[in-house]
Amino acid sequence: MFGQRRKRVVVVGGGIAGSLIASGLSGHEDLDVICLERVGATDHMDAGTGLNIGPNAIKALKAAMPERAEAIVGNSLAWQRWSIALTSGRVLMDLPLENVADNPGIRIRWAELYALLRKPLGAAIHYGAELTSCGRDGDGLFVVYRDKSSIAEKRIDNIDLLIAGDGRYSKIREHFVLLEEPRFLGVCLYRLLFPAGAECPIDDYAQWFNGPNRLLAFRVPGDFVYCAGSFPIGDDGIVTEAMKTPAALRERYTPESGVLCAEAEYLVDAIERYATRIHWARLQDGTTRYDAGEGVLLVGDAAHPMVPTLGQGATQAVEDACVVVDEIRRARAGSASLSDVPRKVSGRRTERAEFVVSFSREATDTMLAGADPVAGTLKKLEPAFTTRLQKLYRDVPVPL
Ligand SMILES: Cc1cc2nc3c(=O)[nH]c(=O)nc-3n(C[C@H](O)[C@H](O)[C@H](O)COP(=O)(O)OP(=O)(O)OC[C@H]3O[C@@H](n4cnc5c(N)ncnc54)[C@H](O)[C@@H]3O)c2cc1C
Repeated sequence: MFGQRRKRVVVVGGGIAGSLIASGLSGHEDLDVICLERVGATDHMDAGTGLNIGPNAIKALKAAMPERAEAIVGNSLAWQRWSIALTSGRVLMDLPLENVADNPGIRIRWAELYALLRKPLGAAIHYGAELTSCGRDGDGLFVVYRDKSSIAEKRIDNIDLLIAGDGRYSKIREHFVLLEEPRFLGVCLYRLLFPAGAECPIDDYAQWFNGPNRLLAFRVPGDFVYCAGSFPIGDDGIVTEAMKTPAALRERYTPESGVLCAEAEYLVDAIERYATRIHWARLQDGTTRYDAGEGVLLVGDAAHPMVPTLGQGATQAVEDACVVVDEIRRARAGSASLSDVPRKVSGRRTERAEFVVSFSREATDTMLAGADPVAGTLKKLEPAFTTRLQKLYRDVPVPL
């Protein structure tokens, strides 16, 4: 068992990975768990969009934190099918997930998910607390953060385990590893959440292509539709204002016949109506790294930035959290030092995360400039792809 001083675990970022880790460690009296979250208690980053979480996250969460799994599943819609068609209406693929997974995934709104994950944290999460610097000195690991309620900078010393759940632009990764230039894939991805309305033809997860230009949509709880559109961009990586106009977007998805199928017409109509609410982004990924030195652990997007093509960013953040909580519990139960947790998590997670990053990148093939979505989708029905999909959805980490 540990010595007399409570071991201090600081989790920076109350996002997917950070919130789950902090709640998974709550109730352990010998741990002093502090979660620092930049946004305020009622603000939600990207609250205006939705996401699908893969069957693998639910399977891993059920095994490691069943009460968290129950809360999330109970407040979401099941993700049970993946269909792909052309915007003209020709269906290319309609895959029941039960063929490749042990359980469904979920569909949910970001705001709902963050609220569910942060709710059990109580006083352990400090909102409006933005990490400004971190490092290691004579007293060990420390962080400095700006507390928005007092505008003052505060410092936490003697940290036994520092966990970076601060996302893709992680200050902790930047300090302890290096600032990595993202790898851009030359694809613009934009997101929109809007009320479904009475005649909504959208239900479970589906995609519609016109050349490499893609619409993706599904319903989320609360009678909303989440839509993510994409199109290739030039080598300069610039998304111009002209590309963002409703007319230009409609043109991208309109097939040669000039007639969109009912689902694509519904989505393009919504894109036109809600154009000013769209969130714009570009596809990018980076290298995988969990262990940032003794006592410093990277998780989620800070550890493995990946493209969202297979809906695995948040999904892998959930898998990470399950393993991290398990490793910390094991360290508490035995005599292992918390400073060794990063190495152990890295040993259990790196190969799988690298597989998911590269699989997600490969699955983006039909969204790249010049791609043929028909040939590319037919390849996704072959064993070379479906076997890897089964590995993705079924081979999840379980508590040791
Ligand atoms: C367009 C798009 C669509 C996506 N769709 C999906 C999808 O459908 N399914 C899926 O699984 N994934 C999806 N993702 C990926 C997903 O958003 C991320 O992979 C996931 O949120 C990563 O979780 P995380 O816990 O690492 O970080 P986040 O959830 O990003 O949380 C990071 C937290 O850290 C906080 N923070 C950051 N800096 C600081 C600081 N200095 N101090 C204090 N707090 C800080 C932030 O406020 C935030 O709350 C998508 C991503 C994009 C861009």
